Amino acid sequence: MSALLVDPFQRNINYLRVSVTDRCDFRCVYCMSENMNFLPKKELLTLEELDRMCSTFVKLGIEKLRITGGEPLVRRNIMTFFHSMGRHLETGALKELTVTTNGSQLERFATDLYASGVRRINISLDTLDEKKFADITRWGRLTQVLRGIDAALAAGLHVKINAVALKGFNETELPLITQWCSDLGMDLTWIEVMPMGDLGTEDRLGQYWSLKEVQRKYSEQFTVTELAERTGGPARYVRLEETGQKIGFITPLTHNFCESCNRVRVTCTGEIYMCLGQEDMADLRAPLRSTEDNKPLEDAIRIAISKKPKGHDFDYSRQRLDGQMPRHMSHTGG
Ligand code: SAM
Ligand code: SF4
Repeated sequence: MSALLVDPFQRNINYLRVSVTDRCDFRCVYCMSENMNFLPKKELLTLEELDRMCSTFVKLGIEKLRITGGEPLVRRNIMTFFHSMGRHLETGALKELTVTTNGSQLERFATDLYASGVRRINISLDTLDEKKFADITRWGRLTQVLRGIDAALAAGLHVKINAVALKGFNETELPLITQWCSDLGMDLTWIEVMPMGDLGTEDRLGQYWSLKEVQRKYSEQFTVTELAERTGGPARYVRLEETGQKIGFITPLTHNFCESCNRVRVTCTGEIYMCLGQEDMADLRAPLRSTEDNKPLEDAIRIAISKKPKGHDFDYSRQRLDGQMPRHMSHTGG
């Protein structure tokens, strides 16, 4: 079918992650510096432009759309965008609409998200300790996020918790966080911390905690079964036989998922990144703004996909910028 986006390595691109804002109400130490300079509003795609762009991607074969940021739910009127995307779920063109959020706004938006067609959401939370939560997010309040999680579950949303694994920070909380997720029927995924930008905080709060070690910790306490299931992304899964829980591990620094990579990312300014670990990008905002006609945008998307690289460059052995990407996660949307 001509509508399908297939890259030069015969990977069918059907998953799009879109960052709808670079702003956030938190300042997580591994993600942002305390004094961030955010983009001027005119640089950002408007909600109408986001709608046109995402709808064009859906027309070209994108089946799964994840909305992220920055914090997507702090973008003004973002619910109108979610409701508008819901129309593609109704036609069946879009199979899944999801969001990655810090949870701070869920108390007011969870029901609305469900109404728009969202069924599963990822909520990022690294600790259940109020003081540590305040330290790691700088501006966040744990109680607000916990109320948001309650609201999400009450609304019928399936929740996955994403926790960044930080040695000396949440290492000791592994059993507690795991039990808490089990009690509330939530999936749990651990993310290996990526060196994104120089935030100068590494020594202050935790440090790199290899997911191999996290998995070993689980093996000490549970019977762990490796699952074959892959999502086309950097996640591996295991099942804890005692609780039946599925635990994910995201190791973005390894190469071994590139061959099945089915995704691209678009930033809030309309830059399409074909690979999280590469600087190569194309501008979709210019074709969006140049004309009401979507044809130039479609062409730009196809050309971008035709340049999707085979794999990414995160590799400690190559020491590219000491393994660091100059972009912040809040820019490309994690
Ligand atoms: N604000 C939303 C949130 O926190 O879920 C969405 C955007 S955030 C950039 C997406 C994910 O990226 C979060 O789960 C966050 O923990 C993760 N993240 C941010 N910086 C990271 C880093 N340096 N290494 C690994 N994960 C990171
Ligand atoms: Fe904000 Fe998410 Fe980055 Fe934390 S990880 S600062 S919540 S964008």
